[in-house]
Amino acid sequence: MGQPILEVEHLKKSYVNNVPILDDVSFSLQKGEVVVIVGPSGCGKSTTLFMLAGLSDPTSGSIYFGDKNVTKVAPEDREIGLVFQNYALYPHMTVEENIMFPLINRKVKKAEARERANEMAKLVQLDGLLKRKPKALSGGQQQRVSIARALALQPKILYFDEPTSALDPELTAEVLKVIRQLASEHMTMIIVTHEMQFAREVSDRIIFMEQGVIVEEGSPEALFTTENARVREFIGKLQ
Ligand code: ADP
Repeated sequence: MGQPILEVEHLKKSYVNNVPILDDVSFSLQKGEVVVIVGPSGCGKSTTLFMLAGLSDPTSGSIYFGDKNVTKVAPEDREIGLVFQNYALYPHMTVEENIMFPLINRKVKKAEARERANEMAKLVQLDGLLKRKPKALSGGQQQRVSIARALALQPKILYFDEPTSALDPELTAEVLKVIRQLASEHMTMIIVTHEMQFAREVSDRIIFMEQGVIVEEGSPEALFTTENARVREFIGKLQ
């Protein structure tokens, strides 16, 4: 294995009274790897992703992107994309404008941004819907727009924070299909999800967190057959 694309070292976070929300979280990610983070609600999954994305500052610890310490680098300079649970689309913009937005922000020429947006829309199978506003789309379609938007700047890593938890099973399947396709194209991804069958099928590694600590990390098969009763019970409940 070469140098990891991402290295997280001793990440700690506390908000009030030094109560640790994350307590010494370390892991690394190889290029092309898909890592799924699972764990009970409130264990620190979103906090971890937000710090990796630069939306929240760690109390201590470091984040390296290749050789570069990015711990204090602004989100837009991290070459990452982030997809949230709640889509976070701009309601007054069309699908095309939403996908173009990060490109226009980066001063990409309009014609080129439009062309790139159209390519991304094709990738997530939304090419017929470019002129619609988000409210005229299903939740699954909206989430696919936010994936296309996250891909527009060709990020080196894509983070997903429970991308299907607001969707019914049919729309969940639509979105998982897109993520599966990205995995088959060797996109480097960290995915927070409760979709355990999907995690088993798509991930190279699963990280299990509890109360701000990584309690187990390994291949999907290792996690699904773990001796750790709490991990087994948690995974079992989600299947
Ligand atoms: P998860 O994504 O695993 O459900 P989170 O990372 O969202 O967990 O939250 C971890 C813990 O941090 C929770 O106990 C949550 O209440 C707490 N927390 C998150 N954001 C803040 C904040 N801004 N101020 C104080 N506590 C927070």
